[in-house]
Amino acid sequence: MPAQIVRAALLALLTACVAAPLGVFVAPWAGWLLFCGGLILQMAFHFRNLARLDRWSRAPDVDASLEGKGAWDGIFGRLYRHEKDLRRQIADRDAEIARIIAAIQALNDGVILLDPDNRIVFCNTMVEEQLGLSLRTDEGLPIVNLIRRPEFVDYLGGGDFTRPLTLRFEHGEERALFIVVIPYAGNRRLMHVKDVTQTDRLDRMRRDFVANVSHELRTPLTVLSGFLETLGEIEVDARTRGRYLTLMAEQARRMENIVQDLLTLSSIESAPPPGDEVVDMARLVDKLRRDAEALSGGRHTVSVESDGLADLRGVEPELASAFGNLVSNAVRYTPAGGTIRIAWKTSPDGAEFAVEDTGIGIDAKHIPRLTERFYRVDRGRSREAGGTGLGLAIVKHALNRHQARLEIRSDPGKGSRFTAKFPPGRLARP
Ligand code: ADP
Repeated sequence: MPAQIVRAALLALLTACVAAPLGVFVAPWAGWLLFCGGLILQMAFHFRNLARLDRWSRAPDVDASLEGKGAWDGIFGRLYRHEKDLRRQIADRDAEIARIIAAIQALNDGVILLDPDNRIVFCNTMVEEQLGLSLRTDEGLPIVNLIRRPEFVDYLGGGDFTRPLTLRFEHGEERALFIVVIPYAGNRRLMHVKDVTQTDRLDRMRRDFVANVSHELRTPLTVLSGFLETLGEIEVDARTRGRYLTLMAEQARRMENIVQDLLTLSSIESAPPPGDEVVDMARLVDKLRRDAEALSGGRHTVSVESDGLADLRGVEPELASAFGNLVSNAVRYTPAGGTIRIAWKTSPDGAEFAVEDTGIGIDAKHIPRLTERFYRVDRGRSREAGGTGLGLAIVKHALNRHQARLEIRSDPGKGSRFTAKFPPGRLARP
């Protein structure tokens, strides 16, 4: 039997023991009065404590313990400790949840938690950047109302999450998101969103590159095999044969040039960072002038302007190849009678190597893409001029490795200026 009941019974018995003699020896009503009065006092005591318990249970104050007497003291003490323990456990759990949320917020990837009806329960701040969703405004909303792309709606509705989904956004800033849905806790879902724009772009560049190389090599190969077939099948006179052989040699040279430029590009890409080897600029500029004159064959005026105040630090073959490409482009894209100017100048901000021509020029819309592999303004003209479409890609890579940048200014019909700007750290002053 609980101690409180025993205690209440004993108190009632004690009251009865005092009231009974009074009822017997004085007057029965006096005995009853004392007995009932005792019981009423006991009940008042319990009701008062009950009222205090009721008040406290509505707004438990764990900073001040409830004071009680008798049996109530133990009850109040236990309730007070229980409430305090509960609060501590809740606070610990809240802190744990806050740490988990902070960890999810710190992720570089987006995380969205969905309920069984695909409504947003939680999403981290990265999702805001990736998909424009925000927990503050979108909590509880069906995600398909916010991301309406049909492939996404089908993917989520299909319920087959063994394969991820790649969402590509082509309007505005180009972006690619890799989405994986992981079911958890029965039919709830965790959506993991990864920004794969960079790898997607690299992947596409690699695919385009392979397609471009194949295309570039296939054209001369087709011409070559066509001539070979003709020569093998029909008898041709010596003059025609000679003409065929000249054309075949031209195609073979074209393939050789492409392979040579590809090898240069790949060796620049895989080479270690350039060291501090001093490149004699006076000698290099002089060699570039002689090369330009040889390529021009007297059709252009070639001039050189050099202050001779500093040399460059870096890899000579790479710089020679970059500058050589600029010079050969200037000669190839400048009609006879034009002028090519090669300049090497130093300044407090660094130094610049420039090649200026009075050639055909380039329309402004092509300039941002000129350094892409195989990009040409006029494919036929480039081919006629013996171009591979890789020259400026080589220039860009070689300059980047030397912390230099390429500036292109051009006026269609008037001429172009290609400038390689080097920072002061790349200079070797005598
Ligand atoms: P290519 O081998 O075709 O010359 P490049 O990468 O060297 O390839 O140049 C890319 C394109 O940029 C060329 O096809 C040409 O259209 C244009 N270009 C480069 N240099 C000049 C220049 N000095 N004047 C006019 N157009 C140029």
